[in-house]
Amino acid sequence: MLLCECICGNDVNHAIICKQGGFICIRHDEVRDLTAQMLEEVCKDVTIEPTLLPLGGENFRYRTSNTSDKARVDVSARGFWALGQLSFFGIQIFDPMAPYYNNLTIEASHSLNEYEKIRMYKERLQNVHQGSLNLTIFTTSGGMGPRAKAFYSRLAEMMAEKKQQPKSSIVSWMRCRLSFTLLRSAILCLRGTRSPPPKSAHIQNLDFEQPVIDSRVNERLY
Ligand SMILES: [Zn+2]
Repeated sequence: MLLCECICGNDVNHAIICKQGGFICIRHDEVRDLTAQMLEEVCKDVTIEPTLLPLGGENFRYRTSNTSDKARVDVSARGFWALGQLSFFGIQIFDPMAPYYNNLTIEASHSLNEYEKIRMYKERLQNVHQGSLNLTIFTTSGGMGPRAKAFYSRLAEMMAEKKQQPKSSIVSWMRCRLSFTLLRSAILCLRGTRSPPPKSAHIQNLDFEQPVIDSRVNERLY
């Protein structure tokens, strides 16, 4: 069996989830940036990766709540659900074939991911920022979770109203853009190289003469 650069066995499933090479981050960031661009059309104060306000001794119900001073969410925007209200958006893309989701249906896998994020962020965003948490969770092949469907449906409605175009056209365009973004990322994960780029020799202490003599480059050039 071929080995990946991370010394795991390599196959299609592994290539889709392997963190080596940074393709997983590229996949996530592309969906995040596209979503932020669409939000910019209809919302104010759209920010990518905003840092959350530091905590002042608040206690949260769940042990898995993110209490870090450097905690961030993917995107924030004002005026998505209600005028002036801040909304936060968390984007996640998971591979339902990964061993973590063994024995779970696709619906249960989506729910698992949604509730993990809810426990991490919802209370903090509500209590400290008076904002809402919106989750857009996809599978690597483009399937959307129920909360993602509700979010993009609302976004399409707002864009249709602003652009004075049919919602069906906006939804088709949106689905197409998201599908191609995920497809491009899947190809990158499958075909992209995980090997580090070759290191070029530093020329500071290089002996220039000997390699030229050895390779007989000068005889070929003159
Ligand atoms: Zn790997």
